Order: sequence, then structure tokens, then C-alpha cells
Amino acid sequence: PRSPWGRFDPYDSPEDQDKEYVGFATLPNQVHRKTVKKGFTFTLMVAGESGLGKSTLINSLFLTDLYKDRKVPNAEERISQTVDIIRHTVSIEEKGIKLKLSIIDTPGFGDAINNTESWRQVEDYIDHQFEQYFRDESGLNRKNIQDNRVHCLLYFVSPFGHGLRPVDVGCMRALHEKVNIIPLLAKADSLTHSELHRKKMKIREEIKEFGINIYQFPECDSDEDEDLKTQERILQDSIPFAVIGSNIQVESKGRKFRGRSYPWGVVEVENPAHSDFLLLRNMLVRTHMQDLKDVTREMHYENYRAQCIQNMTLMMVQEKKRSLQERFQAGREAEFPLPLAAIDTEKERQIIEKDEELRRMQEVLDRIQEQMQHSQRGSC
Ligand code: GDP
Repeated sequence: PRSPWGRFDPYDSPEDQDKEYVGFATLPNQVHRKTVKKGFTFTLMVAGESGLGKSTLINSLFLTDLYKDRKVPNAEERISQTVDIIRHTVSIEEKGIKLKLSIIDTPGFGDAINNTESWRQVEDYIDHQFEQYFRDESGLNRKNIQDNRVHCLLYFVSPFGHGLRPVDVGCMRALHEKVNIIPLLAKADSLTHSELHRKKMKIREEIKEFGINIYQFPECDSDEDEDLKTQERILQDSIPFAVIGSNIQVESKGRKFRGRSYPWGVVEVENPAHSDFLLLRNMLVRTHMQDLKDVTREMHYENYRAQCIQNMTLMMVQEKKRSLQERFQAGREAEFPLPLAAIDTEKERQIIEKDEELRRMQEVLDRIQEQMQHSQRGSC
């Protein structure tokens, strides 16, 4: 007979049949079903020097042509493409699971004559998404907030330099407290095996030396299975992931695959002997997508939020102080003690407006505090 649990029977193993249950073991399935229904969302950003294969790699990663809507670029469009941050959104469905993927394409560094702080626009964009989320979360209508926070930044390092360039260091350091950075070594097909190995080592050393906090793969517990630990070690040792991108299928020895064809042979994008492409895709999509979202929420966004609340509180204290001083001053000018009886109407209006602003800020802060208490109770 069919189980009352339907497809999600948690007690179907023979040894479970004799045990008594309350039923909360189905919680993961309930959460799972709800999330599957809603669909998943993920926001990925790409940054680095222009021409390093960012758009090609993104298309290869998600087997989709995100850039098919691009018109044939003329000189003007090319310029506008490199100076703007563009958000592409695609909905992908696989075995009934929906993923709404957003890719944020950023202007390639190196296009401008002066590249100092060329990452400022990227930083502002990330901050702006946090700000929007903070506003929505602190507002009255908190249902169905659209989460546009950036969950991961794929940072492309050139294979042609000697490790990181100053612009790479500056950019990653400016962003590492705000987003999960995963460094990539672009166009890996242009390097020999030993060059690739040396470059990876050098970049890893420099990341350490310059105090850049890239995304850390979660550490395995000592009792977790060996396969998982090995997988984490491989990921850790592969940083920066050496990647190859291609938008075309090539044919060789009767096989068709995504690759690049050269006079001396072909490289396969998905061949682990040729690049870390598969490792990166599995990590992003299969194994670490949720962790990237968790770290964004629990660490990067929380930092931003705490900073915001601190600034607001400080502003309120200062405003309150100023408002009291003004009242006192106004009362003295009218040769009256408080209250405001003899203050001229303009001053009175200003004070009332300020009071109103303070009241609104206080309301937002109260609501945030209430939510914090609520979520603390929820997590107990
Ligand atoms: P973006 O400006 O960083 O987005 O770079 P594009 O994706 O537009 O690629 C710039 C050029 O590099 C194009 O001619 C691509 O065909 C080429 N390209 C992309 N990926 C690779 C790669 O992995 N290896 C090599 N050799 N060339 C690549």
C-alpha cells in the first residue's frame, strides 16, 4: 500500500518500521518542497580586465547564450557596453527545478586611461543592492522581497601577467568584505602545464601577502566522510581556477564537444585535464551555491546592516541633540523658557519637521529591533 507520506516517506527503511515517531523528520522534505515550488535564485558577478573571456565563460557555464540579445556592436555600442554594469537574467529549468540566474556583467578594467579605482562602480553596485534589501526588509511590506544581493564574484586574472596586477589587488581588496570572491585564471589554454602551476602558486601567495579575503570553502568536520574532505582539498588547491571558455561545438575523433580548435589540436572546455572548468561549475551549481548565499546573508549583508544601524543611531543622537539645542535657543531668543509658545512660525515648522523625521527613524530602528528579536526567537 502507498505510504501516507506520499513520495517523501522518511520511515521506509526496515529498521525504522519499529520506532515510534512524532513526525518532524519530514521537515527537510517540507522545506525542500516549498523551495522547489518557489524556485531558486542566484546572482553571480563577473569582473576583471576586458577581453579575458568573461562573457564566453558565463555562456559556457550555464549552457545558455546570455548575450544573444546583444545587437551587432558598432563603435558606439561597444563603448556603452564597457562603461555600464549590465544585469542579465535567465530562468533555467532542470528536472522540474527552476533557477533564476542573474549575471552582472561589469565594465572591463583597463579600458579607461586612468584605472585607479576603476572598481568604484562595481563597489557602488554591490552596496546599492544591500541598501535596497535593507530598505525592503525594514519596510512595512516584507513579503516577497526581491533579493538582488550579489552572491558571488568571479574575478578574472590575466594569464599574461606575472601574477596579480595592482588593479587586481586594489579591486579585490575593495570588495572582499562585501562579496564572496572566487579568483579565476583566464584563458588557461594559453599556458603550458608548468606555467599554469607556477602562476597559480604565485597568485595564491600574493592573495595571502596582500591580505585579500577570498571565499573560503566551508571546513569539513572531522567526522565527515572522506570523499567530502578530499573534494574540499581539491577545490582549495585549485585556486585560482584555471578556466577555458568557448561558445562553439567542435568535432574531433567522432565526438562533439564545447572546445577551441587550433592548428595543432583542440582543447576541451569540460576536460579536467585541460582546465578546472568542471570543478568550478560543480562547485558553483551543485555543491556550494547555498553556502555562497548563506555567507552573503550571514556575513557580508550582516556587516552592512550593522554598519547601517550604527550610522542611523549615531545620526539620531546627533539630530536629537541639535533639535534640543534649537528649541532651547529659540526659547531663549523669545525670552521664554520652553515650550515653543513664542517661537516664530518658520522655526516652529522646522522643529516639527525634524521631530517627524526623528520619529520615522525611530520607527525603522524599532522595527529592525523587533525583527531581530523575532528571528532570534525563531532560531532558538
Ligand atoms: P570579455 O570582454 O572578458 O567578456 O571577453 P569575451 O568573452 O568577449 O572574449 C574575448 C575574446 O577572447 C573572444 O575572441 C573570445 O573568443 C576569446 N576567448 C574567450 N575565452 C577564451 C579562452 O578560454 N581561451 C582563449 N584562448 N580565448 C578565449
